[in-house]
Order: sequence, then structure tokens, then C-alpha cells
Amino acid sequence: MDNFQYVESVLHVEEVPVPKIAAAVGTPFYLYSAATLGLNFTVFDQAFSGIKHLTCFAVKACSNIAVLRLFARLGGGADIVSGGELRRALVAGVEPGKIVYSGVGKTRPEIREALKAGILMFNLESAQELGVVQECAAELRVVARISLRVNPDIDPHTHAYISTGLAKNKFGIPTEEAMEGYLAASALANIEIVGLSCHIGSQITKVSPFVDSVAKLRDFLVRLAAAGIVIKYLDIGGGLGIRYNQEEPPSSAQYGAAVLQALGDLDCVLILEPGRVIVGNAGILVTRVIFTKSGRQKFIIVDAGMNDLLRPSLYGAHHGIIPVIQGGRGREVADVVGPVCETGDFISRGKEVPVALSGDLLAVQDAGAYCFSMSSNYNSRPRVAEVLVNGRDFHVIRRRETYDELLRGELIPDFLMDKENRVAKNDQQ
Ligand SMILES: *Cc1c(COP(=O)(O)O)cnc(C)c1O
Repeated sequence: MDNFQYVESVLHVEEVPVPKIAAAVGTPFYLYSAATLGLNFTVFDQAFSGIKHLTCFAVKACSNIAVLRLFARLGGGADIVSGGELRRALVAGVEPGKIVYSGVGKTRPEIREALKAGILMFNLESAQELGVVQECAAELRVVARISLRVNPDIDPHTHAYISTGLAKNKFGIPTEEAMEGYLAASALANIEIVGLSCHIGSQITKVSPFVDSVAKLRDFLVRLAAAGIVIKYLDIGGGLGIRYNQEEPPSSAQYGAAVLQALGDLDCVLILEPGRVIVGNAGILVTRVIFTKSGRQKFIIVDAGMNDLLRPSLYGAHHGIIPVIQGGRGREVADVVGPVCETGDFISRGKEVPVALSGDLLAVQDAGAYCFSMSSNYNSRPRVAEVLVNGRDFHVIRRRETYDELLRGELIPDFLMDKENRVAKNDQQ
């Protein structure tokens, strides 16, 4: 994390001291480095410079429109999984012709919006979905460009919740059925087959599952060609892992080299859908210690909870924690927990963390991917601010939610209103 460094014992992001941002925006907040985001994107993209390719950032990893804009300006496309992500990508200025749409449960309104926008392709995951896309495209009198997402039945050796390429997972079409799917698609008037896609999981720390899946895709492409089906885009998904703790994932360059070797002389445009590897180490969560408790067990109670950072609670994920100001107090085993009323609300449990006192600022590391984007309002906690550092400047790219925003859209129906006394009415505040 080169752009996250101590200068005279104070944590800086690029050239900005973190306490200065905390004073300006309050805590907790997510803090991203534009330099790290840009570097990670460029390094990844260049790993494929030997072949025609398009890097479509997986929007769900970090969905802020400023972050999407940064990648769009570097020539990136977007991998989306919902109508909301389509809107984000378009608002951020991602070219529609660089958007691929993945996901097992696209609805008709979502499909129509994507057709109207003119996205590059839909990665379809079932025969029923193919039928619905054909119907929507016919209604709109357009042609839908599609790929089928195959499920290669490969074990990515990652957390069960983020394995997607095993036969038992809900994703994709079994390779045996995919040929039938392509033949069916080729007979549909408003469908144009352009791609073949696959995504086997996330936080994958070895190249072998990727190499195995690319080999399977290659074999399948040969069979498709023999059946007269020409594939222009080969989308191999995302999933490259990062180092949170002791993991030793391949670098983007190693990953790229392994994929290119497995592809051989295939004549396709390669589509990549990286998320975590681009944004994971480009962000931190800054939180302040509210209280500490030491009895049988030491607790550091901070102002960020599981609603702000879900990964430890959901996956038992590890995130390193460092002090924002190094006080020379060392480290100790303690649980860093949030204010949420759940025992599962922790950021770090049973590990060494900085010795911290009430009022201290802590930085939760590697919080750029699947952190803010997974945050919620549980316990009626407003979602936190997001800040982007660019050199000597910092920019709020998402304001902290207010209580009014928290209640926006909620209504008390008339039958619950008190006739004489309408104080309960939500809009009086
Ligand atoms: C989540 C997802 C990605 C991104 O995965 P990372 O592990 O963040 O690289 C790419 N493609 C699809 C279809 C996804 O669902």
C-alpha cells in the first residue's frame, strides 16, 4: 500500500494526513487513493497488452460513480449485475458498448433498460433468461448481443459463499447443456451470439483454477466453431485475489501471463471482469474508538459496525488494523467491535490490534472492495462518507447520510394517524 504511508508517525493517503480528513468529514469514512486505483487498473490492463482485450471493472466491488469514472477515463468498461449498476455506469460515463451484464436473475425492466442503453452483451445464465431477452428485444425491435455463461465445474479454493464455478453453485449453465443453449440462441430472430463467458469465483489466490477454466472454455470454443458458431468475445470473468493477511496471490502480471498462455492462439477479444484486485488495497475504513472495555476480555468499541463493513461478519474475513497516529503503545490481542446490537458485529476478533484508547483513530486496511458497496442501514445507522484522495487534495465522493435521508421514502398510513394529534407524522420533523 505505497500510497498509504506514515509520515512522522501520522498515516497519510498520498500527500494528505488522515486526521485532517477525519476532522473535516467526521468518522467513520471510507478513504480511497486515486493513484492506487489508477495504478492497479493500469497494471492489470497491461498484463493483457499482448492481445485484443477489454477490462470491464466489476461495479459491485466498489460502486461509487467517481471510482467508476476514474476507470472509464482509463479506457475501462464495466461488468454490471443490476439495473442500479447500469445506471451508475452510464452516469459515470462508461461507454455503453463497453458494458457487460452478468447475473442469474435479471428482470424484464432491467433487461429493457440495458437493451435501450445498447450494452455490449448480456451474459446469460439459463434457457429461460434467453427466452426473456429474446422477447424484450423483439418488443423493442432491437437485437440483443449475448454470451452464455458456462459453469465449468471448477473448484476455485475460496470461501464457499464466493465460489461460483462449481456444479452445485447457482451460476451459469453446465458446459454439457451450453451447446444446446447456443443452438437455441442461434435460431432466435432478435438474438446475436457474440460471446462465451465464465466467472468461477472471487478471492482466488492461485492461477491453476483460472488456467483450468480457460482450458475448458478453449475446448468449448472449438466445439462451437465446429457447429458454425463464431465467438467474438471470450469473457473469463474476474476473481483474482489480494493479500489481506498471509495469502500469496499471483500478481496481475503473473495472472495475465498464465491466462495468455492457456489461451494459445485463440482469435477472440478477451474480456476481463476484475473487481477486488483493482480496488481492494486502494481503500481504508477510518474509524474512531468510542470506548474500551477490559474485563475477562478486551474490547475496543469503534464507531464503525458490521453495517459499514460486513466482510468480517459475513465471511470471517481478515482486515488488518493500524493506528492512524503511531503512539508507540504497541499491539495486544483484543476484539475490535462496532456499536451494532449483534454479537456477530466485529471488525477483528481474537487477533493482535493496536493498543487503543477512547478517541483514537484506527484504519482498517484493504477496505476498497466489497466494503462500502455491501454497507447497509441496519440499526438505523446512516451510511458513512466516501472520500477520494488525489495527490494533495481530498474530495468527498459520497456525503455521509443524514437522518432525513435515512427516513426518506417511509410513510405512516392514514389508518395509523391520530385524528386530533398528528405529531407522529413523519414529515413534521
Ligand atoms: C463479482 C464478479 C466479478 C468480480 O469478482 P472479483 O473477485 O472482485 O474480481 C466478476 N464477474 C462476475 C460475473 C462477478 O459476479
